[in-house]
Formats: sequence, C-alpha cells, structure tokens
Amino acid sequence: QPTPLTDIEIARAAHPKPIEQIAAALDIPAEAVYRHGPHKAKLAMDFVTTARAERRGKLILVTAISPTPAGEGKTTTTVGLGDALQRIGKRAAICLREPSLGPCFGAKGGAAGGGWAQVVPMDEINLHFTGDFHAIGAANNLLAAMIDNHVYWGNLIDIDPRRVTWKRAMDLNDRALRQIVVGLGNNGAAREDGFDITVASEVMAIFCLATSLDDLKERLGRIVIGETKSRRRVLASELNAHGAMAALLKDALQPNLVQTIEHTPAFVHGGPFANIAHGCNTVLATETALGLADYVVTEAGFGADLGAEKFLDIKCRMAGLAPAASVVVATVRALKMHGGVAKADLAAENVAAVRAGAANLRRHIVNLGKFGLPVVVALNHFTSDTAAEVEAVRAICAELGVAVHLCRHWAEGSIGATDLAEEVVRLADGGTARFKPLYPSEMPLTDKIRTIAREIYGAHDIDVAPAAARKLAVLEADGFGYLPVCMAKTQYSFSTDPGRLGAPEGHVVPVRDIRLSAGAGFVVVLCGDILTMPGLPRHSAAERIGVDAGGHIIGLS
Ligand code: ADP
Ligand code: MG
Repeated sequence: QPTPLTDIEIARAAHPKPIEQIAAALDIPAEAVYRHGPHKAKLAMDFVTTARAERRGKLILVTAISPTPAGEGKTTTTVGLGDALQRIGKRAAICLREPSLGPCFGAKGGAAGGGWAQVVPMDEINLHFTGDFHAIGAANNLLAAMIDNHVYWGNLIDIDPRRVTWKRAMDLNDRALRQIVVGLGNNGAAREDGFDITVASEVMAIFCLATSLDDLKERLGRIVIGETKSRRRVLASELNAHGAMAALLKDALQPNLVQTIEHTPAFVHGGPFANIAHGCNTVLATETALGLADYVVTEAGFGADLGAEKFLDIKCRMAGLAPAASVVVATVRALKMHGGVAKADLAAENVAAVRAGAANLRRHIVNLGKFGLPVVVALNHFTSDTAAEVEAVRAICAELGVAVHLCRHWAEGSIGATDLAEEVVRLADGGTARFKPLYPSEMPLTDKIRTIAREIYGAHDIDVAPAAARKLAVLEADGFGYLPVCMAKTQYSFSTDPGRLGAPEGHVVPVRDIRLSAGAGFVVVLCGDILTMPGLPRHSAAERIGVDAGGHIIGLS
C-alpha cells in the first residue's frame, strides 16, 4: 500500500475557487466580501447584520464521545457532512472555530479537519489566519496594561493590586507564564500575575457571544477585573477600557469565510476551548450562516458532556438558537480505548472492548435526548477497523434506537458521507427536535452545577469547596444567579479524573473555584485541576513544523 498523503499534502493539492465565487454561491454580494488574499475573506458587518436577521437554515450540531488519544474527528466529520450535504444538492454551510496556536504547536496539531475533509487554505487557517486571535490578545492585554497603569498613576479607584483577577493572555502553550510577577524594578506595584491562553480568556468568550459591535462594547465594559481594597467589584468600564478594546476588535468581529476542499462555504470564526471555556464559534458566524444556507453544520469542542452542553446551555440559550439535529462522532478505536485497550494495542481486533467502551457513547446519546435533540451516530471509519467491530457498534446503536452510519469522508471526501447527510436531512426536516436547555435560568447556581453533574456526568453529587461556596452565595446575593454556568473540567472523562474512561457512575464532582465572567454572561465553575494555560509536550509539533524555500508550510498535520 502506498503511504497515505498527509493532511497538508492533500490540502496543498486542492484547487480552491476564488473566495468571491464561494460567497456568490450563498448570494453574498461582492462588495460585502473583504478579501484577505485569494481564498480568505471577512464579511462586511452591514451585510452580516442583514443576513443574520433572517434565520432560514436548520442548525446541525456535531459533537462526539469523550476524546481519547486515538482521535475522533469532529472537525473532519463536520467538514465531511457539510460537503456531503452539498453533494446531495442541499444549500449547506459549515461553522467552525479558528484553530489556536497552542494545540497547533503542541500535541494535537492543526484543527482544520483531516484527509479529504478539510477547510483550506489549512496552513493559513492554522497559523494566524486573519489575525483575529492576535486582536483578541491585544484587547485583553490593553485592559491588563490599563489596570496596572491606573494603579501606577495614583489608583483613584482604589484597586487592590492583590485582588486583580484579570490576567494577561497569549495564544501559545507556555507553562512558564502561568504564574509570574509583574511590576518589578521601579515600575509600579509588584504583584503576582499570570497568563491564560487567549482561547481561555473572557475576551474570547465575549467575542464569540456578541451579537453586534455595540453588544461587544457593552459586554467588554461589564468585565470584572478585580476588587477595590473595600472589596467592591471593579469593571473595565470604570477604567474606560472597553471603547479601545472594541476598537481593536472591530475588524476581527467580521466573520471569516473560507471553503472546504470541495468548495462548501465555511465560516471559521472565534475559538474558545471547550474544557475551560464555552467551546464554539461566534454567534455572528452561526447566525450569518443560518441566514444564507438551508443546513448549517457546526462543531462543539471535545465530548458532548463539555462542548455540546455549553453550546446548548450557553450559546443557544443566549442567542435563541435551536438545533434541528445532532450528530455524535465515534470511532472504533476510541471506543476500544474507553473499553480498556491501551493505545499501543489498538491495531488488534477487540469486539468485546468495543462493546464495553460503548457505555461512553450510550451516555452521550442519552444526554443529548435530555436537550430534546434527535441524534444520529457518525462512525468515523479508520482503515484499521474490522467488520466485526463495526458490526458491534451497529448492534449497540440498534439497541438504543439510534441510526448509525459508517462514514469514509476522511478517505473519500463527500461521497463517503452521503448516507449520513441523507439521515441528517431526514432528522432535521422531520421536525422532531424540541430543544430545551438542561436547566432554567432561574435555577440557583449551585443547583445548576449539581444538575449538570448528575444528569450529564452521571455523578452522585458535587462537593463545593468552602471558598467556592462563599463566592456562589455572594454572586446569588448580587443578582448573578440567573446566569448559566460554564463548567471547566477535564475533557477525557465524565468524572474529573482524566483516567476514568467509559461511563463512570456515582463519582463526586469537586468544585474548586468560581469565577464570574460578567461580560461573557456566565459563571465559570472550575472542577478538579484544570489549567487555563497549557504547556508543550516533551516533543512538540513545533519541532516538526517549518517552511520551505518556496514559502510552503511543512510538517503541519
Ligand atoms: P477533533 O475535531 O475531534 O479534535 P479532528 O477532526 O481535528 O478531530 O481530527 C483529528 C486528527 O485525526 C486529524 O489529524 C485528522 O486528520 C485525523 N483523522 C480524522 N478522521 C480520521 C480517519 N477516519 N482516519 C484517519 N485519521 C483521521
Ligand atoms: Mg475539532
């Protein structure tokens, strides 16, 4: 067998159309297309405002089983499904997050899909793209600079430097910046500080939830940066920072348009992580796509316990969106790992492990039903899967009364996922979706956390640390109790122990800390040890990535 082509080799061999042609297919007028080179564009905000007003399309959520190092392929399947919908004659669009440089240079690599189901130009999308994340980092760091500067020039607001919670941000994995001291020398009040990765920052969340430039500015003004010495919350608006922050973000807020290898339009815009943030692309991109296409396929990060729960309880609730169907991506390899097989042993057929690992798939399917969404399983086919293993997945899905389709879009492009596309159209057009968030906004914060832990994670209960309980009580008393919660938890397990695969039951979810994201409009709940600034692995992808003399990126996967 010939060695299969790498993602970047396939992407480079693609023949993308000029981006105006992709836009024209969705009736986007040429004057609304701001080109960033031949194959990337931003869309004029006036056009976006008009387009998003009319939501004609059906929203399809792509989510997955709990991730394993074996890989699941949500982005790949989102792209493959979008291409397959287009292939069967539907007016389809895709909505994805922008990749972060953290995972790109870390262990995971790029996030533009894989094989014959990719968005292009994949190297540019993975590296800088249209500069949105730099703008978000700059806006974040402008606020940080203005805080320390305010303290330096007399501190009229009486900010307590020890109680500044606003951190610096950068879109790289850099563990050395997790905890730092700023203001050394004769340069202001020395204090402990730290960096979060940009995709974990509140500015990223705000960017992704904002519905207009005005809404963006208001949300930025509501950011809580810390407390005064008398313990009053200090807002970004008190520092008059939100205007300049919005100015920095003005162009970035215009949704980005690219295409798949098969020329399906793809909106790639915003990109919060799903374990420590809310995990889905901008509301503006999703609404614009819904205004222009009949079927809009979008990905929520990590497993359905994290990405889908937050997509539904935070984004859809806030924006008033209602998905028509959901797709759960699973692979035989990942199910085997959930069934106890080590990564090194994945090559050997193991039907029993597939059956055991299916407990994870089963729980995610049941969970999506609690949101009122019809479900179809996309079994993302790897060449190592055996017929007996695939048959085992079919049998399990039959027991659950859920359709499953073996998908080969990674190897074959759209033709490998037409069955899935037909099924998704049937589900979405069937009108059986009765979307409702898991909990009502009026429910107290602690009960919201407990509801998610019990209903979604299968936990027995939550264990709230005393300091976290006090913060929750203060937030309730101050009128923030109506906000949704944004769970920060390991993506690898339904529990907070990344080693407990499958479908653990009866565990207790420790609630370690609580953070108010008043601008984003949610309360972050930190469960277990969860890092908001990742580190690089011993051998990072950065060691393999480069550029040749012709300017072509190499080593990116
Ligand atoms: P996710 O969005 O779930 O994190 P991606 O779609 O980004 O996953 O895929 C992760 C990696 O797995 C990519 O490098 C992709 O090329 C690879 N991959 C996805 N599907 C397959 C498949 N069916 N066979 C082989 N590799 C695949
Ligand atoms: Mg992905």
